[in-house]
Amino acid sequence: MSSSQRFVADHVAGLPKSGIRDFFAIVSQMKDAISLGIGEPDFVTPWHIREAAIYALEKGKTSYTDNKGLITLRREISKYVERFFHVNYNPDNEVLVSVGVSEALDIALRAILNPGDKVIYHEPCYVSYSPSITLCHATAIPVATSAEDDFAIDPDKLIAAWEPGVKAILLNFPTNPTGGVTERSKLERIAKFAKEKDIVVLADEIYAELTFDGEHVSIASFPGMKERTIFLHGFSKAFAMTGFRIGYACSTPELVEAMMKVHQYAMMCAPILSQEAAIEALRNGEEAVLDMKDKYQQRRDFICRRFNEIGLKCHVPAATFYAFPSIRDTGLTSMEFCQRVLQAEKVAVVPGTAFGPSGEGFFRASFSNSYDQLMRATDAIERFVDTLVKE
Ligand code: PLP
Repeated sequence: MSSSQRFVADHVAGLPKSGIRDFFAIVSQMKDAISLGIGEPDFVTPWHIREAAIYALEKGKTSYTDNKGLITLRREISKYVERFFHVNYNPDNEVLVSVGVSEALDIALRAILNPGDKVIYHEPCYVSYSPSITLCHATAIPVATSAEDDFAIDPDKLIAAWEPGVKAILLNFPTNPTGGVTERSKLERIAKFAKEKDIVVLADEIYAELTFDGEHVSIASFPGMKERTIFLHGFSKAFAMTGFRIGYACSTPELVEAMMKVHQYAMMCAPILSQEAAIEALRNGEEAVLDMKDKYQQRRDFICRRFNEIGLKCHVPAATFYAFPSIRDTGLTSMEFCQRVLQAEKVAVVPGTAFGPSGEGFFRASFSNSYDQLMRATDAIERFVDTLVKE
């Protein structure tokens, strides 16, 4: 340990290192590994969206913007959210453009949490949830979902986890890493509970457009929910814009103003070129999104079929670009399975435990990969599983 370690704040020193980061440090050293580990689209951002950023640059748009984001973008976001999610947000004071959903989540938590407050969330979940809560000196209350229930968000379990001091509930649907969607009736129960207990709902709906089966319903669209929900969304997944680092948070004027206070000092504003690209994405990007979604769906059907053939039970994800097959029958832990398949066959998948302890017995395989890669990867996993059977 270097001597400067003593300068690091206790709550930062105590944060776990991301399981994914550790694992992919190893993968990056391997020359010809096939990675199904990446949580981002394999598509390049559609050309017309990239062109909008290039054009903005050519026109010399290199300045800061309004802290809340360009008003043109906020207006487009407001129209889009109304059309797709059926919630009406005023672009003047209910929309805040952020540096990805990552920043939106961070400023939302920092805007509402006092030290010692508690936040309930479901798990396995996106890796940043628990650390982001801890960084606010608040307490994370994870609620394990169950494999037997295909990791569906369970309102009863969330409600049972309530205790005095709970200020918020953090939901992600469709869900990373399980690909699950959450039905309207379950969201309605959670909404009722949030109102009864007077708690805020943070709704990370970043994968909404990539819903293959059924219809995405936003919790903010229910009566009386807009005023207690912070709706988080962005461009990274559906529009394949991860590198642009652009997203947004929508809520009441008071909550947007509170988030603005944090955002203006921490970030000032999202990059102007990304904002210009995002305007184009919302105006003319729908066809490209549907096209990518169609390809993900075909790949999903392929990879899930292959996993089940191999004997790795795989629930078909209704959304996202993640499959979450079970390795329970192999007798290995998630980490052992992932390390061994990487060593033996040079295929990288993410141990389910990277997303929380209840991910044990599973791994996450991203199907944002070409057919060819998916075919080679699943053949390699099959060879590996066959050797286990013979051991
Ligand atoms: N929320 C979830 C559930 C995610 O899976 C991710 C990225 O993987 C993010 C938020 C972060 O998205 P962004 O690129 O907009 O920061």
